[in-house]
Amino acid sequence: MTMLRPGSTIVVAGGAGFIGSHLCDRLLQDGYRVIAIDDLSTGNSSNIAHLSAEDGFTFVEGDIVSDGTSALLDRAVDREDVSAVMNFASPASPPAYLERPLETLAVGSTGTWNLINYALTVGARFFMASTSEVYGDPLEHPQVETYWGNVNPIGERSVYDEAKRFSEALVSSHQRSVGLDARIVRIFNTYGPRMQPDDGRVVTNMVHQSLVGKPLTIYGDGSQTRSFCYVSDEVDGIVRLLQSDVTSPVNIGNPNEFTIRELATVIAEVLEVELSVEYLPLPSDDPKVRQPDISRARELLGWEPQVQLADGIRRMVESLR
Ligand code: UDP
Repeated sequence: MTMLRPGSTIVVAGGAGFIGSHLCDRLLQDGYRVIAIDDLSTGNSSNIAHLSAEDGFTFVEGDIVSDGTSALLDRAVDREDVSAVMNFASPASPPAYLERPLETLAVGSTGTWNLINYALTVGARFFMASTSEVYGDPLEHPQVETYWGNVNPIGERSVYDEAKRFSEALVSSHQRSVGLDARIVRIFNTYGPRMQPDDGRVVTNMVHQSLVGKPLTIYGDGSQTRSFCYVSDEVDGIVRLLQSDVTSPVNIGNPNEFTIRELATVIAEVLEVELSVEYLPLPSDDPKVRQPDISRARELLGWEPQVQLADGIRRMVESLR
């Protein structure tokens, strides 16, 4: 294992986002100092408000797409203190990236490139938050890391999928050409406290609809599947990968697969509401199935998700109340 220096500083881009903010919590608990950088376009300062008094935490408001990123970071931290740069900056829910198509392409290309250059300059490890969306509407099921994916390059969703694929390409080419010390995680659908109530994702929508007594919205016929990972499990897998010497992409997600209709049933049961659903049109290029093969994470990281769906939904609802 090539562990990071204890007590060193880790830069988390997108640190005010959903997964990014949970990651900041965990890194601080593990004894690192954390610089979160976020432009607050889809992230929210309320996600990190509880950290503002923490000695080891600094927030920098800024956009990693802009040229001035390293200057901004240089004002916040001495270069030699930085041991890792983690890129969690991007709109991530489908409505959020469809509203910001060019920004999403920019952050996954120029933004990632700027952060890689910063990591190279300061001699830090680079960590890329990629996504199961690199597999597109998969023709192989479950998805193994060696599968290349099935993405429509000109479809609406391509702004996210191709941006993340480009990020992976950038990281890989820097690994080959200049020996960038890098890790790539492919994150599958993740849920838990701090998801923005209006982020439009299926778990958020259905939990909030149940809380206010509205029918649960199902897009299409609800036979499409997803595999939902609770955020503490996701972050634990991410940290294990960060500390490992695994330099090829690793899927981190919960392999328990549900149809969207089954998800609605679980959410209604946990919230003790009678199930009522409203069927709406399926968004374009919506993947029909998605389930991670996590053999690589099990074998190389000793990682296994602990929180199952009903329990995770219960925890999420408790935190909302
Ligand atoms: N979906 C749904 N109802 C909603 C929101 C989403 O049925 O209110 C569907 C969506 O079409 C997709 C799945 O749930 O098939 C997961 O959508 P989400 O936006 O959470 O994430 P994705 O996996 O598509 O990125």
